[in-house]
Amino acid sequence: PRANSPAARDAAFALHPYTEHKAHRETGSLIIERGQGVRVWDESGKEYIEAVAGLWCASLGFSNERLREAADRQMRKLPFYHAFGAKAHEPMIELSEMLVQRAPVPMARAFLANSGSEANDSAVKMVWYYNNAIGRPQKKKIISRLRAYHGVTVASASLTGLPANHKLFDLPIAGIFHVSAPHHYHGAEPGESEEAFASRLADEIEALILREGPDTVAAMWAEPIMGAGGVVVPPRTYFEKVQAVLRKYDVLLVADEVICGFGRTGAYWGSQSLGMEPDILTCAKALSSSFLPISGVLVNERIFEGLAEGSSQIGTWGHGFTYSGHPVSAAVAVETLKIYDEMDVAGHSRQVGAHLQNELRRRFADHPLIGEIRGMGLIAAVEMVEDKATHRNFDPARKLGARLAKLCEAHGVIVRGLANDAVAFSPPLIITESEVDEMLERFGAALEAFTVELRR
Ligand code: PLP
Repeated sequence: PRANSPAARDAAFALHPYTEHKAHRETGSLIIERGQGVRVWDESGKEYIEAVAGLWCASLGFSNERLREAADRQMRKLPFYHAFGAKAHEPMIELSEMLVQRAPVPMARAFLANSGSEANDSAVKMVWYYNNAIGRPQKKKIISRLRAYHGVTVASASLTGLPANHKLFDLPIAGIFHVSAPHHYHGAEPGESEEAFASRLADEIEALILREGPDTVAAMWAEPIMGAGGVVVPPRTYFEKVQAVLRKYDVLLVADEVICGFGRTGAYWGSQSLGMEPDILTCAKALSSSFLPISGVLVNERIFEGLAEGSSQIGTWGHGFTYSGHPVSAAVAVETLKIYDEMDVAGHSRQVGAHLQNELRRRFADHPLIGEIRGMGLIAAVEMVEDKATHRNFDPARKLGARLAKLCEAHGVIVRGLANDAVAFSPPLIITESEVDEMLERFGAALEAFTVELRR
């Protein structure tokens, strides 16, 4: 990068998340300067359609006057107060009330934190505390899934089922187990139906519970649709069968709605799209359209009663953040949820999402590089394979997904490269059908250029 340019200063001073630091020193970053609707512009003035809404999160896009005004109003009135002990303020009360009212199944209380990782860590500690409070301290183990993404703090990273989040950190912590990812395209035996595959996965969970002892297994974590792990839509009947096993052994279900919540899948919650009835639900990202950091944990009556009883008998649930329910973040989240109601975010996502899913298949299903196109509502992925018949991927060392994602930038669309050479689409939920078409035109041009490059 040019001396003293933003890219050079970035390379000199910023330590980035999830970045190849050595290469970054030489190349610097793509520096985004401003946003409007579904688009962002870099410092050179080049325009991009943000096909992943940043990190699957900026649901209202990259500008919104109402959210700006909500933040401004709260900044003037009460820029900070906390929620420890018995202290509260209107934005956290209103947001808690709105979340409980909108829950996919009856929920009793909402706890607020600042990120998806914190929400999941908080939920882990609720589950552990809950079982202590009701007199079964040995029931602490947690089931998660390979390829899951639940965050990067120590407990959340342990729930995450991706090798990069474990192997160099001595994770997962003890008592967290990973079962198979529910990905029919790669995980099913030849000829195995989605239903048969789902039964096999439920059997795997039951076998794990029996091996560990049902009185030691507390909860299972699951994203309705796995996001970062590859936009994995589970096979038909999966959650029905998994939940039957969990109920049999009194194992709680925790739905991680950090990506799927607030309309992403074409219903208000991913739990509704996939038939999940969670005891605990975590959410973040679209909760404030990501304009300010905030996350939530919803708990049902049973869990809340445990916390309430426990606080008088075994000592209080010793957990919470300085910024739990931060008033400015909460005020922005309240306004975001009001906008979602007014625009019927789930209905919009269902309608425009149907267009996205149809167009992806119409345009790319026959492409020689594309093996699977998957998704629901406004979340999707296309995966490149070397052999369409056997679903065999390319050698991961070739990093084709990351290379295609990079080439997409040159064509004016930002997508996200995932494992197995998949690229993700998860655009702002305000996207229109014509913007979807424009996004896919640009992606198609990049894919064609990439196909030519690979043939060379
Ligand atoms: N859970 C899911 C499903 C996510 O996709 C993410 C982040 O992408 C997280 C949790 C962690 O959220 P955060 O990055 O805000 O800690």
